Amino acid sequence: MTLSMPGKELSAAIRASITGGARLAVVVATEDEAALWYVRSIAKAAAAVGIACDIVEPGPEAGEIRATLERLSADPGVHGVMLQTPLPGGARLQDLASAIDPAKDVDGANPLSLGRLAAGLPAFAPATAGAVMALLDHYEVPLEGRRAVVVGRSTVVGKPLAHLLLDRNATVTVCHSRTRDLPSVTAEADVLVAAVGRAGMIGAEHVKPGAIVIDVGTNPTPEGGLAGDVDAAAVEGRAGGLTPVPGGVGPVTTAVLLRNVSLAAT
Ligand code: NAP
Repeated sequence: MTLSMPGKELSAAIRASITGGARLAVVVATEDEAALWYVRSIAKAAAAVGIACDIVEPGPEAGEIRATLERLSADPGVHGVMLQTPLPGGARLQDLASAIDPAKDVDGANPLSLGRLAAGLPAFAPATAGAVMALLDHYEVPLEGRRAVVVGRSTVVGKPLAHLLLDRNATVTVCHSRTRDLPSVTAEADVLVAAVGRAGMIGAEHVKPGAIVIDVGTNPTPEGGLAGDVDAAAVEGRAGGLTPVPGGVGPVTTAVLLRNVSLAAT
């Protein structure tokens, strides 16, 4: 049997540990519906734990976005600054996010934060990567000396997660679109993390019997729902544990983000 690993209880526990009084600014330069839905859900969750959340809309110009990030970074009344993706006109997160003060970079978007993580120095990791680690710890999944395979090498999920897993003494492999014979690599994993963005791409052949599988993927379905990167029906009975989509990594990500804001204020 495969253990279901929902994030609801952990998300509630993290939110309960947060002390209010901090202020988060979310810079939004997109009209993407899914992104706007996510920003509204952050604002609502922030209000529930006593964190003020300002949604700041600088317009689509990269120069204006950068200036806004600099202004918020310099504002002593703002503790956390986050730039929502997607960005307009080919602007890249890693270019603009360098304007976020690393001390306020609560979603780990400034390349300095990723560099510090890689160097084993204190830094905010992107909330999604932090959420994966929090889930592994919540379900007491051993990491030391275990094989961990991360599918996806983005700067927001795969790369920071690889560093966090390495810090916990896992033996880490990162896969991507050019990886040859993906199932032969992922089938070595004691802990398998899927962060690709392709519904159902991880099937039984990718999973070692008993492996813990964390599904980061959030893929919109034609019915208006969300599907993970893992084919849950195919891996049922084979995986040792699996996070559901929705209801797994997602709610924990928001809680970790708000915890980062509260930490940035102390
Ligand atoms: P991304 O920037 O598009 O990166 C996707 C990664 O998957 C890339 O490294 C890509 O390889 C790799 N990939 C693509 N096709 C592949 C294949 N056939 N085999 C192996 N690897 C393949 O995506 P992202 O921002 O990391 O997000 C990944 C997923 O997580 C998305 O579904 C996103 O919606 C979701 N997500 C969820 C949360 C949450 O809180 N739950 C937060 C963030 C993202 P290359 O580098 O070679 O192109």
